[in-house]
Amino acid sequence: MIQIFGAGVAGTYLYHLFEQNGYKANIFDVRSSVDCRCAWGIIYSEAKELYSRIGVDIDDYLLSKPECVVVNGVVLKNKNIVTFDKKKLLRDLWVDFKKIENPELIIDATGTSRAFLPPIKQDRLFPTVQYLEKQKIEENIYILAKNTGYSWAFPLGNNMWHVGAGALSLEDANELIRKLREKYGFKSCEAECSCLAKIRMLPPSKCRPFIYQNVCGVGEAIGCVSGAGEGNVPALISSKVLFGCIERNKLGEYENCIVKELEWLEVEQKFVEAMLNKKRFSMLRLLPKIVKFERERTVEHSVETIRSILGI
Ligand SMILES: Cc1cc2nc3c(=O)[nH]c(=O)nc-3n(C[C@H](O)[C@H](O)[C@H](O)COP(=O)(O)OP(=O)(O)OC[C@H]3O[C@@H](n4cnc5c(N)ncnc54)[C@H](O)[C@@H]3O)c2cc1C
Repeated sequence: MIQIFGAGVAGTYLYHLFEQNGYKANIFDVRSSVDCRCAWGIIYSEAKELYSRIGVDIDDYLLSKPECVVVNGVVLKNKNIVTFDKKKLLRDLWVDFKKIENPELIIDATGTSRAFLPPIKQDRLFPTVQYLEKQKIEENIYILAKNTGYSWAFPLGNNMWHVGAGALSLEDANELIRKLREKYGFKSCEAECSCLAKIRMLPPSKCRPFIYQNVCGVGEAIGCVSGAGEGNVPALISSKVLFGCIERNKLGEYENCIVKELEWLEVEQKFVEAMLNKKRFSMLRLLPKIVKFERERTVEHSVETIRSILGI
């Protein structure tokens, strides 16, 4: 019997992959109800394909398909990023939680907590802050990036927005939000809700082990987050990869499969590392690979645009 801990994106997806393919699994989360979780941006075509495997149509949860992504004032055409109602989706995917004694396999899908796998040596968790607010601004995604982190505003439809930031420190994050408001005209206002969280800024290869005794990790617990803080699709992919390894009875291949399938996370996290350490040549070396990959899946941009945006 399989026991999943953590009913976020990775855990719920894996639970339904198991259930719909004849495996018996239980899922448990420390939260008793779905709260207003952050992270409502997702890559549409990838989410559509991945969620279709468990019979979910992401179109039923779409909130906004912004025309443009504006980064440090530079307008880029959005190809594929949408916002979706993550709270509603998780609510629909949640089942009665259950914890069983002595499961054969434990899945650690507990995100930054990584509650069941051994701690990561030299873990790197950046603080984040996010507000849910009402603003009358044209529906684009607005970003302000600095070498300490970045702030964002994601439209959620009906004039609702997630305004937030992730950075080296909470002070840096708040300062980035202040600058974003100033640059794009987001008024300081009473937030409908706010949350402090953390994001893991390490690629999978630095979050080993993924398997320890009878525990196996997925999602952010094993560093499936991009350098830009994108963790939804990587979390889904990690669960799909784990499920595939279990189906083929090749659990021993899981670590290598993850590092291979999510190789782009390694490259993007290296770029962040270089940016934090102001290593310009490393950034220039990595940039063409990132641009080539991200141009296909997210926004239209070029190496030159990113260089001018980041001033490198
Ligand atoms: C502010 C912010 C904004 C973000 N924005 C985006 C975005 O727009 N797009 C994007 O793609 N990514 C975004 N991310 C990243 C994304 O949220 C995560 O990478 C993704 O949610 C990871 O999914 P997960 O299922 O691995 O973990 P989580 O979604 O964090 O789920 C982990 C679950 O485990 C539960 N848990 C913790 N400890 C235990 C325990 N001991 N026992 C049982 N359950 C436990 C938690 O309650 C939680 O429900 C953002 C992150 C932050 C912090």
